[in-house]
Amino acid sequence: MPSIIDIHIHIQPLEMFKPHALELMKRGRANFDQIERFSKDPRAFLAFLDDCGIERAGLINYVSPDVIGFTAEVNDWIARYCSTDPKRLLAFGSVHPKYVADAGAEVDRLAKIGIRGLKVHPSHQLYSPNAYRDGLGPLAAVYERAQANGLPVMVHTGTSIFPGARNVHAQPILADDISVDFPDLVVILAHGGRPLWMDEAFFLVRRHKNMYMDISGIPPQKLLEYFPRLEEIADKVLFGTDWPGPGVPDVKGNIEKFMAVSISDAARRKILYNNAARLFPV
Ligand SMILES: [Zn+2]
Repeated sequence: MPSIIDIHIHIQPLEMFKPHALELMKRGRANFDQIERFSKDPRAFLAFLDDCGIERAGLINYVSPDVIGFTAEVNDWIARYCSTDPKRLLAFGSVHPKYVADAGAEVDRLAKIGIRGLKVHPSHQLYSPNAYRDGLGPLAAVYERAQANGLPVMVHTGTSIFPGARNVHAQPILADDISVDFPDLVVILAHGGRPLWMDEAFFLVRRHKNMYMDISGIPPQKLLEYFPRLEEIADKVLFGTDWPGPGVPDVKGNIEKFMAVSISDAARRKILYNNAARLFPV
């Protein structure tokens, strides 16, 4: 089994979820108590990663008071969680430009407390990723300070079925402006725009030198159907599962299916490990 970095796992403070959103997380999941245990106990989660053959994991959190229930507290929560083993656990936090007094200062603070990347979740945060061009000034400050601090920004792209999610903000092409205006900022398009906008994601990853995408949430057996020219962008693609999000039953099965995807070994290595290792040096 090769070394693996899963750049997109959701370990979250479950007590913050709104009831509707939590219901969706629990649906059809027999082992929800396992997820509850992991969210309280980083060591139990690290043992789970060992069992799955995963060396390092990006743990995605974001501020979404309106749709999911997360306040800015998630940042300190995940920084604390990942401090158990910051080499293996990469904390992703977020700055919601509408819910913070000084967005730029908050980015600087997150970098200091050990946050390794920022998540922008347009359909759950209810603004477009390029809304700074339309008057949402603090969002520009988020990108500007992330770029200055060397923090990659992961932007959710593709549909969401959480109650209240607004998918009008979820098209990858809306992130084109970010790389035009902040060319040194590393941007990761989560989910490659699945299942509606893969062409946009493919175009952007090829167009911008610092734009990447992750394949989380895409059933690996469908990966080449979604991205027939995956090999061409193998230097810009990161493996991720999106576990335990809706539609992602388990991590091991997801890895097994990815191992069976018909791509070269070199491309598989880059996607499973090398690209993420380069973006998130130990
Ligand atoms: Zn996710």
